[in-house]
Amino acid sequence: MSRYDYDLFCIGGGSGGVRASRVSAGFGAKVAVAEERYFGGTCVNVGCIPKKLFSYAAHVREDFHDAAGFGWSGPEPTFHWPTLLANKDKEIARLNGIYESLLSKAGATILKARATILDPHSVECGGKTYSTKHVLVATGSWPTVPEIPGRELAITSNEAFFLPELPESIIVVGGGYIAVEFASIFNGLGVKTTLLYRGKRVLRGFDADLGTRLAEEMTKKGVIVRLESDIAALEKKPGGALAVKFRDGRQGETSAVMFATGRKPNTHYMGLEAAGVELAEDGAINVDDYLQSSVHSIHALGDVTNRVNLTPVATAEGMALAKTLFRGQPTLMDYDNIPTAIFAIPNVATVGLSEETAVARGHAVEIYKTSFRALKHTLSGSEEKTFMKLVVDGPTQRVLGAHMMGADAGETIQGIAIALKCGATKAQFDSTIGIHPTAAEEFVTMREKFTQ
Ligand code: NDP
Repeated sequence: MSRYDYDLFCIGGGSGGVRASRVSAGFGAKVAVAEERYFGGTCVNVGCIPKKLFSYAAHVREDFHDAAGFGWSGPEPTFHWPTLLANKDKEIARLNGIYESLLSKAGATILKARATILDPHSVECGGKTYSTKHVLVATGSWPTVPEIPGRELAITSNEAFFLPELPESIIVVGGGYIAVEFASIFNGLGVKTTLLYRGKRVLRGFDADLGTRLAEEMTKKGVIVRLESDIAALEKKPGGALAVKFRDGRQGETSAVMFATGRKPNTHYMGLEAAGVELAEDGAINVDDYLQSSVHSIHALGDVTNRVNLTPVATAEGMALAKTLFRGQPTLMDYDNIPTAIFAIPNVATVGLSEETAVARGHAVEIYKTSFRALKHTLSGSEEKTFMKLVVDGPTQRVLGAHMMGADAGETIQGIAIALKCGATKAQFDSTIGIHPTAAEEFVTMREKFTQ
């Protein structure tokens, strides 16, 4: 009989925490999970899932526009935001239930309260103290808003999922995943949308072609993209509109402002420092290759470690940790070739190295790229362009990176990611038969090396 109440006490019921807990319980560990807010965490409640549902809604407007070229006509469609919100909430409630039942079916104890670490082997939750062999911190992250006057007047992605009504106009600040996704959503739903980014090109850190081309496509679709610009202050005007002061001194007015300016790890007031857990400057928990913090019994994974902040990475880390702790199988994560998609309109997806990173790492690269109007749009009349790019290591001919902007880019790149994981060469891409007529077949038919 263990001298602890639990083998694993997990703080946080998001994707990573639930996976680690469920699998650990499956391996025979006695597990408790504490969650103070909602099961499923950011991804299920205020992230990936509702965001993608909203993105589908925004796409539907384009589908109506595209329909005429295929012979369809009808009255001008109208959009009802409360219907979308209610249907989204219903689906999220269903998923919350699934997450909870996955845990209870696995035999984990569910505690719906905030938990605080008291020492390396004890946790307080809901007024009770529990002893535990291992603690897992999987508390995720929270949106950050720059310290400017009037910041409380703005929203973040958290509030965007519950707006009582759609604003007439919005300025979305930022140039990362959340900013381009939400600017596309608001624009698609008929809100006059400005994307405001302080840098020269959105999607910094991704292959440069993606950021440049996405901004072009979003502009074609009606988003006002303003680069090298930032907000200095906000003020509420009589009547409810927001007066906006920009850093360059210009003034403007908008119905709403959304900051999508990054997220911060949730590590406050949890007893981490007192227990001796080392935090990074940004508040993230420093962990080693086995997800162990500076305290032997305390582990962390997912966004709270602020490394690769993606749901599938957190769930993979959860799996790895469960195997390490409770299956006698120390498991390392492999962070290479993680595919990712940005659900802007059009979608963007990528796996492997950008051209810039490959060059910076000393590869003599060969570049293959293509940009074309997808077959559908020859009739729809849409001017949307699809873009694909391969970054190849010249001497070995290994494909280092694959990048795409276009319809369902994530669906295509997921398959390509397997090829990259297997170390595929350009010749192997070329010898793969394409599926005709698809956009994806371009990935196996690009023959011409790109030269400046
Ligand atoms: P990102 O870190 O991706 O982007 C933040 C953006 O805000 C950057 O463009 C940054 O500019 C800008 N910014 C930061 N601080 C300021 C400031 N003070 N003033 C003005 N601009 C600022 O964060 P997100 O919030 O978009 O997303 C957080 C993370 O969540 C992502 O990195 C991703 O890991 C994950 N995510 C994944 C999604 C997916 O898989 N589809 C969807 C949504 C989120 P600069 O580039 O100059 O630093």
